[in-house]
Amino acid sequence: MANKNEVPVRKNQVLTGTVMDLTYQAMGVVKVDEGYPIFISNALPGEEIKYLVTKANKNYGFGRLLEFIKTSPDRVSQENSVYLQTGIAPLAHLAYPAQLKFKQEQIESLFQKEKLPLTVQPTLAAPEATHYRNKAQIPVRMIEGQLETGFYRQRSHQLLPLTDFLIQDPKIDATVKEIRDILRAFHVPAYNEEHNSGVIRHIMVRRARKTRQQMVVLVTRQRHLPQEDAIVQAISELPEVSSIIINYNPKVTNVILGMQERPVFGNAYLEDELLGKRFRISAQSFYQVNAEQTENLYQQAIEQADLQPDEVVVDAYSGIGTIGISIADHVKQVRELEIVPEAIADAKINAELNHVKNIDFTVGKAEEILPEWVEKGQKFDVLIVDPPRKGLQPEFIEAVLKARPKKLVYISCNPATLARDLRLLIDGGYHGTTMQPVDMFPMSNHIESVTALELD
Ligand code: SAH
Repeated sequence: MANKNEVPVRKNQVLTGTVMDLTYQAMGVVKVDEGYPIFISNALPGEEIKYLVTKANKNYGFGRLLEFIKTSPDRVSQENSVYLQTGIAPLAHLAYPAQLKFKQEQIESLFQKEKLPLTVQPTLAAPEATHYRNKAQIPVRMIEGQLETGFYRQRSHQLLPLTDFLIQDPKIDATVKEIRDILRAFHVPAYNEEHNSGVIRHIMVRRARKTRQQMVVLVTRQRHLPQEDAIVQAISELPEVSSIIINYNPKVTNVILGMQERPVFGNAYLEDELLGKRFRISAQSFYQVNAEQTENLYQQAIEQADLQPDEVVVDAYSGIGTIGISIADHVKQVRELEIVPEAIADAKINAELNHVKNIDFTVGKAEEILPEWVEKGQKFDVLIVDPPRKGLQPEFIEAVLKARPKKLVYISCNPATLARDLRLLIDGGYHGTTMQPVDMFPMSNHIESVTALELD
């Protein structure tokens, strides 16, 4: 760069450049004067593009694609770029094999930065690259006086009406559209964020593919819907709807579900099957969104854990107990640990449904409970963790390094926190050889993986 302090571009400049890289957020990167990066959506490595500079910060800028001069062989043509604009499917412009490679390389580069001595395997492809999601949370808003369902434009509160969500089970898309039409017919006003007025905020639909059951959750700003009985009746007649819940969320918040819910039709839960076991799932409980690929993910974890009949396994961040119950037949005892009480309530019922007896349950924060167990001298041989995106807490890792279980299986949905945590675990006396990315979220930039470690 000519002058280190000088920003080499100005806002509203039109430039051409070659895309060098694709970031974790799926933005193409063009470098100006060799060093200054400009992030541009819908631009792939190797492509030559004309773009408009939309923002020029001190150390980086943003641009908007104007024209392709040369496109990538990995680009798939898209009839509709709405999936990129909304962030529903930020990798929808990249061919599926290239998405798998992108995810592997993202992990490799994070592992290189942390100097982690693990080989990253090629990403295990999902059985279906589209229409795989079993859960939808669809915002509802008024547009020009009409109730609409769709998705927000990225980094905005502007709703784009949509009926085909590309990555969701088409039966869910159909149900959302039918509910939209019922709400329109009954003249139910949609929520208005600005004035905190209106009624319907979100429609959530979850579907169990094996049992063909659908749960509908109407998230409302009022305790009761106008003409509630008639609306519930109409929704209950839609195909496969087995449960309707009204979730009351009066707050000004981005959090979708409120704390109070009221079942108004059918059961307050769904049932699905994974690896031959049956699972009950409440509205508030976590359930993997890609059930087909979840079986492969768990299979990877089970194989890598190399479970033995005399072993005690702790399944931390257990949700509704899917992993613990799937492995219980192969080990001496399973200990489930989870923060959401509803999920543990589901897990207990799930253990009963599957006649699993060698299992116990604890509600609490993993980073508080595990240190207590270790303090009391409770022993376990295998630790399976499946934390949310923020990864493991330092207190949790400290407790692991004190307890020193022989084997550790880390299921991760965020390679950045995974790399950080693996560094600490490896420094603390664990080693591993390979790690397996498993694509749970085709078309999106989310990266799931399984890593097994053993005590040195
Ligand atoms: N293993 C389960 C759930 C994984 S999702 C499955 O495959 O379905 C992560 C789970 O961790 C969620 O159920 C979430 O409620 C739980 N969780 C989040 N923070 C936690 C914490 N601090 N301690 C224990 N569990 C936590």
